[in-house]
Amino acid sequence: MPMIDLSERIAGGLLGVAAGDALGATLEFMRPNEIRDKHGVHREIIGGGTFGWRPGQGTDDTDLTWAVLASYLDGPYTLDRVAANMLDWYHTPPRDIGGTTNIALGRLEESGDPHACGRTGEYSNGNGSLMRCIPTTLARSDAEVRRAELIEISAITHAHRRSIDSCVAYGEMINALLEGADPSEAIAAAQALDLRPLVREALEVDPSEPVEDLSTSAYVIDSLKCAVWALQQDDTFEETLVALVNRGRDADTTGAVAGGLLGVWHGVGAIPSRWLETLEYRPRFQAAVPTLVALRREAP
Ligand code: ADP
Ligand code: MG
Repeated sequence: MPMIDLSERIAGGLLGVAAGDALGATLEFMRPNEIRDKHGVHREIIGGGTFGWRPGQGTDDTDLTWAVLASYLDGPYTLDRVAANMLDWYHTPPRDIGGTTNIALGRLEESGDPHACGRTGEYSNGNGSLMRCIPTTLARSDAEVRRAELIEISAITHAHRRSIDSCVAYGEMINALLEGADPSEAIAAAQALDLRPLVREALEVDPSEPVEDLSTSAYVIDSLKCAVWALQQDDTFEETLVALVNRGRDADTTGAVAGGLLGVWHGVGAIPSRWLETLEYRPRFQAAVPTLVALRREAP
């Protein structure tokens, strides 16, 4: 296998999120049999779906990933910058937004305090913070800094420990892959953390489980589980992502979360170029890579 360098892994992570989001957006809310009837096997980025997306357009997943990423570019990171970027997106206004994200950003707008608006209820554990969390890990090699920023960014909207721990576990896997770990080492790195039981269970998904048995719901635990499953498939970036998004339901976010992890592991070179060419965020994400490489190499 050819060596994949840090830039290619970072670019793969960002563009993997964008590709999974754009591929899945067509299928959001659909059932697998409806998808089969309408598309056969869906494997091209064609837009459409419930919200009428342009081919390669980012949905909330990629928009908010950009909001977080932009907070690390052009000046020092602060949580207030993340919050301001999220509010700018909130005012666009977005075509599609999760319930928890919507309530929390409404509260943020009123209070101006990103520490006081996150939701903590049991049913505030959608995948809305996991789907946007990758930039922090791409920028931060120091474990303490990375975890602290993952936690505070999740908590702007998703402050329940299960959502927060899902971001921290995902970050630990991404970080390990960036440092040269293989998938089983990356999963073990996350398992070594003190995590809530359901997050730990998601990391223990059996990779031989048929894709039909996975749930592509918008529950954070399901999305994390799908991503960990995907990381362990002995198949290409394309085939693994296609298998997951064709399960429908929250196909775009399931694709985004798995796409980020797969993109870091396989590198940007493994993402089909016909997909990359459609992605509206591609220029901005590519342009951010050298800054992320530099941030990652900075002493903490
Ligand atoms: P977001 O996380 O993007 O803001 P929502 O708040 O709408 O989005 O959550 C998405 C979905 O996550 C909800 O429709 C719900 O089905 C699911 N969800 C949230 N918490 C739980 C939970 N504790 N158990 C099962 N499903 C959950
Ligand atoms: Mg989306």
